[in-house]
Amino acid sequence: MAEVTKVLDKEFVPFISKEQIATRIQALGNELTKEYQNKDVLFVSVLNGAFMFTSDLVKEIKVPLEISFVKYASYEGTESTGKVKQLIGFNADQVKGKHIVIVEDIVDTGRTMQALIKDLEGMEPASVKVVSLLFKPEALKIPITVNYVGFEIDPNFVVGYGLDYDGFGRNIPEILVLKDK
Ligand code: 5GP
Repeated sequence: MAEVTKVLDKEFVPFISKEQIATRIQALGNELTKEYQNKDVLFVSVLNGAFMFTSDLVKEIKVPLEISFVKYASYEGTESTGKVKQLIGFNADQVKGKHIVIVEDIVDTGRTMQALIKDLEGMEPASVKVVSLLFKPEALKIPITVNYVGFEIDPNFVVGYGLDYDGFGRNIPEILVLKDK
Protein backbone atom coordinates (compact mmCIF):
# COMPACT_ATOMS: atom_id res chain seq x y z
CA MET A 1 0.00 0.00 0.00
CA ALA A 2 1.27 3.46 -0.92
CA GLU A 3 2.73 5.54 1.89
CA VAL A 4 0.32 8.21 3.16
CA THR A 5 1.41 11.76 4.11
CA LYS A 6 -0.94 13.97 6.07
CA VAL A 7 -1.00 17.71 5.32
CA LEU A 8 -3.35 19.43 7.76
CA ASP A 9 -6.61 17.42 7.55
CA LYS A 10 -6.00 15.71 4.17
CA GLU A 11 -4.17 12.53 3.14
CA PHE A 12 -1.84 12.48 0.14
CA VAL A 13 -0.01 9.65 -1.65
CA PRO A 14 3.20 9.65 -3.76
CA PHE A 15 2.77 10.88 -7.34
CA ILE A 16 5.99 12.27 -8.90
CA SER A 17 9.28 11.31 -7.20
CA LYS A 18 12.31 13.51 -6.47
CA GLU A 19 14.26 11.56 -9.09
CA GLN A 20 11.58 12.00 -11.78
CA ILE A 21 11.45 15.73 -11.06
CA ALA A 22 15.24 16.10 -11.23
CA THR A 23 15.50 14.17 -14.51
CA ARG A 24 12.73 16.20 -16.16
CA ILE A 25 14.19 19.52 -14.95
CA GLN A 26 17.57 18.60 -16.42
CA ALA A 27 15.91 18.00 -19.81
CA LEU A 28 13.99 21.29 -19.60
CA GLY A 29 17.25 23.05 -18.69
CA ASN A 30 18.93 21.63 -21.79
CA GLU A 31 16.07 22.81 -24.03
CA LEU A 32 16.13 26.30 -22.52
CA THR A 33 19.92 26.46 -22.80
CA LYS A 34 19.63 25.83 -26.56
CA GLU A 35 16.75 28.30 -27.02
CA TYR A 36 18.30 31.22 -25.14
CA GLN A 37 21.90 31.18 -26.47
CA ASN A 38 22.99 34.78 -27.14
CA LYS A 39 19.64 36.26 -26.05
CA ASP A 40 18.99 38.81 -23.34
CA VAL A 41 16.74 36.61 -21.17
CA LEU A 42 14.89 37.34 -17.94
CA PHE A 43 13.26 34.50 -15.98
CA VAL A 44 10.18 35.67 -14.10
CA SER A 45 9.28 33.31 -11.27
CA VAL A 46 5.75 33.38 -9.88
CA LEU A 47 5.68 33.31 -6.08
CA ASN A 48 4.98 31.51 -3.89
CA GLY A 49 4.60 28.11 -5.57
CA ALA A 50 7.39 28.29 -8.16
CA PHE A 51 10.25 29.06 -5.74
CA MET A 52 11.61 25.50 -5.55
CA PHE A 53 11.17 24.72 -9.26
CA THR A 54 12.85 28.01 -10.21
CA SER A 55 15.82 27.32 -7.96
CA ASP A 56 16.44 23.86 -9.45
CA LEU A 57 15.64 24.85 -13.06
CA VAL A 58 17.99 27.83 -13.35
CA LYS A 59 20.91 25.68 -12.13
CA GLU A 60 20.40 23.53 -15.26
CA ILE A 61 20.42 26.46 -17.70
CA LYS A 62 23.92 27.20 -18.96
CA VAL A 63 23.49 30.70 -20.42
CA PRO A 64 23.80 34.12 -18.75
CA LEU A 65 20.36 35.04 -17.39
CA GLU A 66 18.54 37.31 -14.96
CA ILE A 67 15.89 36.21 -12.47
CA SER A 68 13.07 38.23 -10.99
CA PHE A 69 10.13 37.30 -8.79
CA VAL A 70 6.50 38.38 -9.05
CA LYS A 71 3.51 37.88 -6.89
CA TYR A 72 -0.15 38.31 -7.62
CA ALA A 73 -2.44 39.67 -5.00
CA SER A 74 -6.03 38.55 -5.60
CA TYR A 75 -8.96 40.36 -4.16
CA GLU A 76 -12.68 40.47 -4.75
CA GLY A 77 -13.49 43.27 -7.17
CA THR A 78 -16.27 45.73 -6.69
CA GLU A 79 -17.71 44.83 -10.08
CA SER A 80 -19.37 41.59 -11.07
CA THR A 81 -16.18 40.39 -12.80
CA GLY A 82 -15.24 38.59 -9.58
CA LYS A 83 -11.58 38.17 -8.68
CA VAL A 84 -9.16 40.86 -9.76
CA LYS A 85 -5.47 40.07 -9.97
CA GLN A 86 -2.86 42.69 -9.37
CA LEU A 87 0.83 42.34 -10.10
CA ILE A 88 3.09 43.46 -7.28
CA GLY A 89 6.81 44.04 -7.07
CA PHE A 90 7.60 44.52 -10.75
CA ASN A 91 8.36 47.33 -13.18
CA ALA A 92 8.44 47.91 -16.94
CA ASP A 93 12.12 48.97 -17.12
CA GLN A 94 13.20 45.45 -16.16
CA VAL A 95 11.20 43.91 -19.02
CA LYS A 96 11.49 46.18 -22.06
CA GLY A 97 13.36 44.56 -24.97
CA LYS A 98 14.11 41.32 -23.11
CA HIS A 99 13.14 37.74 -23.82
CA ILE A 100 10.91 36.74 -20.91
CA VAL A 101 10.42 33.21 -19.59
CA ILE A 102 7.66 32.93 -17.00
CA VAL A 103 8.37 30.14 -14.50
CA GLU A 104 5.21 28.66 -12.92
CA ASP A 105 4.60 25.71 -10.63
CA ILE A 106 1.28 24.65 -12.19
CA VAL A 107 -1.14 25.86 -14.84
CA ASP A 108 -4.69 24.91 -13.98
CA THR A 109 -7.46 27.11 -15.48
CA GLY A 110 -4.84 29.41 -17.02
CA ARG A 111 -6.27 32.57 -15.42
CA THR A 112 -3.12 33.49 -13.49
CA MET A 113 -0.98 32.99 -16.57
CA GLN A 114 -3.31 35.02 -18.78
CA ALA A 115 -3.14 37.95 -16.34
CA LEU A 116 0.64 37.78 -16.10
CA ILE A 117 1.21 37.46 -19.88
CA LYS A 118 -1.08 40.46 -20.46
CA ASP A 119 0.78 42.57 -17.88
CA LEU A 120 4.20 41.60 -19.27
CA GLU A 121 3.21 42.21 -22.89
CA GLY A 122 2.27 45.77 -21.94
CA MET A 123 5.92 46.28 -20.89
CA GLU A 124 7.27 45.76 -24.47
CA PRO A 125 9.36 42.58 -24.07
CA ALA A 126 11.10 40.97 -27.11
CA SER A 127 9.14 37.74 -26.45
CA VAL A 128 7.19 35.98 -23.69
CA LYS A 129 7.23 32.20 -23.14
CA VAL A 130 5.98 30.01 -20.31
CA VAL A 131 7.61 27.07 -18.55
CA SER A 132 5.45 25.22 -16.02
CA LEU A 133 6.47 22.20 -13.97
CA LEU A 134 2.91 20.87 -14.03
CA PHE A 135 0.07 21.39 -16.49
CA LYS A 136 -3.53 20.19 -16.18
CA PRO A 137 -4.75 20.39 -19.81
CA GLU A 138 -8.25 19.17 -18.91
CA ALA A 139 -8.71 22.04 -16.43
CA LEU A 140 -7.63 24.77 -18.87
CA LYS A 141 -10.36 27.38 -19.40
CA ILE A 142 -8.33 30.08 -21.17
CA PRO A 143 -6.56 29.41 -24.49
CA ILE A 144 -2.97 30.04 -23.38
CA THR A 145 0.16 28.25 -24.57
CA VAL A 146 2.49 26.57 -22.10
CA ASN A 147 5.68 26.39 -24.19
CA TYR A 148 7.65 24.07 -21.89
CA VAL A 149 5.84 21.53 -19.68
CA GLY A 150 7.43 19.36 -16.98
CA PHE A 151 4.55 16.93 -16.55
CA GLU A 152 1.00 16.88 -17.93
CA ILE A 153 -1.28 15.64 -15.15
CA ASP A 154 -4.95 14.85 -14.56
CA PRO A 155 -6.99 17.56 -12.81
CA ASN A 156 -6.43 16.27 -9.26
CA PHE A 157 -5.11 18.32 -6.33
CA VAL A 158 -1.36 17.99 -5.74
CA VAL A 159 1.05 19.27 -3.06
CA GLY A 160 4.79 19.36 -2.42
CA TYR A 161 7.84 20.71 -4.21
CA GLY A 162 6.68 24.29 -3.61
CA LEU A 163 2.94 23.65 -3.95
CA ASP A 164 0.82 24.09 -0.83
CA TYR A 165 -2.39 22.99 0.75
CA ASP A 166 -3.62 25.94 2.81
CA GLY A 167 -0.06 27.21 3.27
CA PHE A 168 1.49 23.85 4.22
CA GLY A 169 3.31 21.10 2.33
CA ARG A 170 5.60 23.33 0.25
CA ASN A 171 8.75 21.79 1.79
CA ILE A 172 7.89 18.21 0.78
CA PRO A 173 10.67 17.29 -1.73
CA GLU A 174 8.40 15.27 -4.06
CA ILE A 175 4.90 15.77 -5.51
CA LEU A 176 1.98 14.07 -3.79
CA VAL A 177 -1.63 13.73 -4.90
CA LEU A 178 -4.81 13.79 -2.82
CA LYS A 179 -5.75 10.24 -1.80
CA ASP A 180 -8.98 8.85 -3.28
CA LYS A 181 -11.84 8.69 -0.84
P1 5GP B 1 -4.90 28.94 -12.54
O1 5GP B 1 -4.88 30.45 -12.50
O2 5GP B 1 -4.16 28.35 -13.72
O3 5GP B 1 -6.26 28.37 -12.38
O4 5GP B 1 -4.22 28.45 -11.22
C1 5GP B 1 -2.89 28.51 -11.00
C2 5GP B 1 -2.64 28.49 -9.51
O5 5GP B 1 -3.62 27.68 -8.80
C3 5GP B 1 -1.32 27.83 -9.26
O6 5GP B 1 -0.25 28.75 -9.34
C4 5GP B 1 -1.53 27.24 -7.89
O7 5GP B 1 -1.24 28.20 -6.91
C5 5GP B 1 -3.00 26.90 -7.83
N1 5GP B 1 -3.26 25.47 -8.10
C6 5GP B 1 -3.90 24.95 -9.17
N2 5GP B 1 -3.96 23.60 -9.09
C7 5GP B 1 -3.33 23.28 -7.94
C8 5GP B 1 -3.04 22.01 -7.31
O8 5GP B 1 -3.36 20.90 -7.76
N3 5GP B 1 -2.37 22.08 -6.12
C9 5GP B 1 -1.97 23.25 -5.56
N4 5GP B 1 -1.31 23.19 -4.42
N5 5GP B 1 -2.22 24.46 -6.14
C10 5GP B 1 -2.89 24.46 -7.32
